[in-house]
Amino acid sequence: MRILIVEDEAGVAGFVEQGLTEAGYAVDIARNGPDGLEYALAFEYDAVVLDIMLPKMNGLDVLREMRNQRVKTPVLLLTARDGVDDRVRGLDVGGDDYLVKPFAFPELLARIRALLRRPPLQSGNILSMDDLEMDISQREVRRAGKHIELSPREFSLLELLLRHPNQVLTRTQIVEHVWNFDFYSDTNVVDVYIGYLRRKIDRNFDPPLIHTVRGVGYRLSEEKDD
Ligand code: CA
Repeated sequence: MRILIVEDEAGVAGFVEQGLTEAGYAVDIARNGPDGLEYALAFEYDAVVLDIMLPKMNGLDVLREMRNQRVKTPVLLLTARDGVDDRVRGLDVGGDDYLVKPFAFPELLARIRALLRRPPLQSGNILSMDDLEMDISQREVRRAGKHIELSPREFSLLELLLRHPNQVLTRTQIVEHVWNFDFYSDTNVVDVYIGYLRRKIDRNFDPPLIHTVRGVGYRLSEEKDD
């Protein structure tokens, strides 16, 4: 596994490099934003550790450009303790996780392992499965090239399913992510909205993507039920 570290502080870069190398990773280091972007575009890294405060081009711009160029590599952002806005923006522009400085090396290692376990990120603002496509920023959904009109709630529900492909989501998980507290007690609402979604994205298309996992919840998958 090859990891890119984009960090201008020599001390931090050095200790991360040493630790990751000892843990068996191949490590490259870039010391400023433009170099980091160039490396990230030039090589297929398995993960990128990206500092936000960088000379010449900050980490958020590097990340945004990576995602624009459809680089799907998981990115762990390094942020300042008081950088709440940076963290939010970082996740919004396509960061996968963040770590607040100063951090302990074992935590960095654990987070990198977690990132590497994830299926490859779908690029930029597009989530897709089979011929179903969702453009997050344009809030547009298409299946087989056909535009599908969804209500905001249906959109959030489908987005949640697309972000967890082939994973069973319980009614409780769904209700907690898509509805507010008022609905916590009533998971029937999930079944109702799944019904709406099915009519729009599955009824006139093949294969069906929304699968019921009896007694548990739902799963978005191209595979047929067992
Ligand atoms: Ca820095």
